[in-house]
Amino acid sequence: MDEVKLLAVSKTWPADAVRSAAAAGQRAFGENYVQEGVAKVEALAGLGLEWHFIGPLQSNKTRLVANHFAWVHSIDRLRIAQRLSEQRDVHLPPLQVCLQVNVSGEDSKSGVSPDELPELARAVAALPRLSLRGLMAIPEPTPDTALQRRRFAQLRQLRDQLAGQGLVLDTLSMGMSDDLEAAIAEGSTMVRVGTAIFGTRSYPA
Ligand SMILES: *Cc1c(COP(=O)(O)O)cnc(C)c1O
Repeated sequence: MDEVKLLAVSKTWPADAVRSAAAAGQRAFGENYVQEGVAKVEALAGLGLEWHFIGPLQSNKTRLVANHFAWVHSIDRLRIAQRLSEQRDVHLPPLQVCLQVNVSGEDSKSGVSPDELPELARAVAALPRLSLRGLMAIPEPTPDTALQRRRFAQLRQLRDQLAGQGLVLDTLSMGMSDDLEAAIAEGSTMVRVGTAIFGTRSYPA
């Protein structure tokens, strides 16, 4: 059976909440906001945790992300990837990255369009300090589980199309607290779970 990795999304929660989850055996944590995430990475540096940046990324914040995180899931344009590659410390292993894809087709959403994905994927795969691992999506929230599954199936098919073009990716970062069953059913390899682990966030994220 394929393994699904659990990423504990600790945004808005204090370092002590991460410490407790780490004491219970959780190793991988996801953060959305650069300042908040970097503060936790530094506060908990001795614990040997694996930090993933999963939020929107502006080009003026790439240096902090490049050097405090092991993974970035939210790359949706080449300029950001180029900066991360240029800024990643040469003494660190390559930054593990996923491309965020807009599978819902809403104009307001971040993520590269499925049409533009192959070109972006080829360009990112060629960057020296990045290791392109997979695709990530945040479909529109819906209680319709059939629709949830269609969105996740679309991301899996995009991954398979890239494999057909010679670009083999091992990671599908898909599924959150409210849709993780559908994501796993469609082949997720990494679910990003906040609320179901830490509880309801006290401010919106
Ligand atoms: C907040 C967030 C999550 C976790 O969401 P929950 O519904 O709390 O599980 C996952 N992925 C991203 C990109 C997020 O911003």
